[in-house]
Amino acid sequence: MTHNNSMKTLQRALEDVDRILISTHVNPDGDAVGSVLGLRGILESAGKQSEVVISDTITKKYKFLMDRPVLRPDSPELENLEEAERFQMVIFVDASERERAGDVLDHLDRWMSPGALEVNIDHHVSNDIFGDIVIVDPERASTAELVLQLAGTLGVDISPVVADQLFAAILTDTGRFQFGNTDSHSLQAAAQLVAAGADPSTIAQRIYLERPASFYRLLGNLLSSIELRHDGRTCVMTMTSDLIAAYFPDGHMDSEGIVDFTVQVEGVEVGVFIRQTGDGTFRASLRSRGEIDVRVIVEAFGGGGHENAAGCGMEGSLNDVKERIVSEVKNWLK
Ligand code: 5GP
Ligand code: MN
Repeated sequence: MTHNNSMKTLQRALEDVDRILISTHVNPDGDAVGSVLGLRGILESAGKQSEVVISDTITKKYKFLMDRPVLRPDSPELENLEEAERFQMVIFVDASERERAGDVLDHLDRWMSPGALEVNIDHHVSNDIFGDIVIVDPERASTAELVLQLAGTLGVDISPVVADQLFAAILTDTGRFQFGNTDSHSLQAAAQLVAAGADPSTIAQRIYLERPASFYRLLGNLLSSIELRHDGRTCVMTMTSDLIAAYFPDGHMDSEGIVDFTVQVEGVEVGVFIRQTGDGTFRASLRSRGEIDVRVIVEAFGGGGHENAAGCGMEGSLNDVKERIVSEVKNWLK
C-alpha cells in the first residue's frame, strides 16, 4: 500500500495530542467493537484521554467487552464542549470509507479542536484511504491486529481487559479461526493476547453460545427454506420483517452469523442472506468459499467488504432485490 503511513508516524503524532476520539462503522461487528475498546485501553495506558463514540448501539452479545460506557452522538458528555475539552485527534477503525462512521460525522466539527488530525486504521482492501494518517493493511484478518501492533510500537503492555477485547475482535473477524483469512499472523496475535490474559473459552461462550431460544426457532424456519440456485453453487436465504416480528415481537434481532449457514451447504460457492430492514429496504450479506470475490459482486450495488465476506444495502421488492443479486452472482461463477 503506497499511501500508507507507518505506526511510527502515528506514534509521533500522538506525542502532541492529549484527547483522542475513537469511532468505527455503523452496525458495529465484533472487530469494530473489540478494536475501539482495545484502542481506548491502549491509548489510556499510554497516558492519553480517550473516548469512543459510535453512531449505533453495541449488540447485546458484545456488551460484556465494555469496561466502561461508550458514547453516542447525542450523549450529554459531548454537548457544549469547552475548547480545552475538545479532541485533537479522531481515529476511525475498521471503516473502509469515512461515511461508514454514520451520524458521528455530522458532529465532528463541534467536538474537534481546529486542525485536529484524522487517522484511518483498517484492513479492508477497498479502503478509500481517507484521513491525514492512514494505516491500512488488507493482509491483516482483523483491524484488531493493527491495534495490537500499535500497542507494540507505543511500548504499552496489554492488560487482560484489552486482551479480551482484541481477542474477541480477531475471533469474530476470522469466523472463529475458520475463514480463509485465518493465518499465522492472526493466530500469533491471538496467542499473544491469551498470554496477556485473554480467556478464549469465556469469550466464545458469551458471543456464540448464549442466544435466546427464539433465535434458534427463527433460524430453524430460515434453514428449512434455503434456496439453491445455479446448479447448487449459490445458496439464498431471505428473512422478511414479518418473519422477524413473529419471533421477536419488538422487531429487534441480532442476525449476525446467520449468513454463514448459506456457505456450509455442500457444493455451494456463494451464500446470500437477505434481510428486510424496512418498507422496501433490505441488507444483503454475501459469503464465498474459494476464489469468488463477493466484494466485487456487492460493489455493483454500492456495498463493500472483503473477498469472502461482503454486504450492501438494497431497495425494491424482495423478489426484485433477490433476483438482482442472484444474477450478479451468476456473472462471477466460472
Ligand atoms: P456483513 O455481511 O457481516 O454485514 O459484512 C461483511 C463485511 O462487509 C464486513 O467487513 C462489513 O464491514 C462489510 N460491509 C457490509 N455492508 C457494507 C456496506 O454497505 N458497505 C461497505 N463498504 N462494506 C460493507
Ligand atoms: Mn474488520
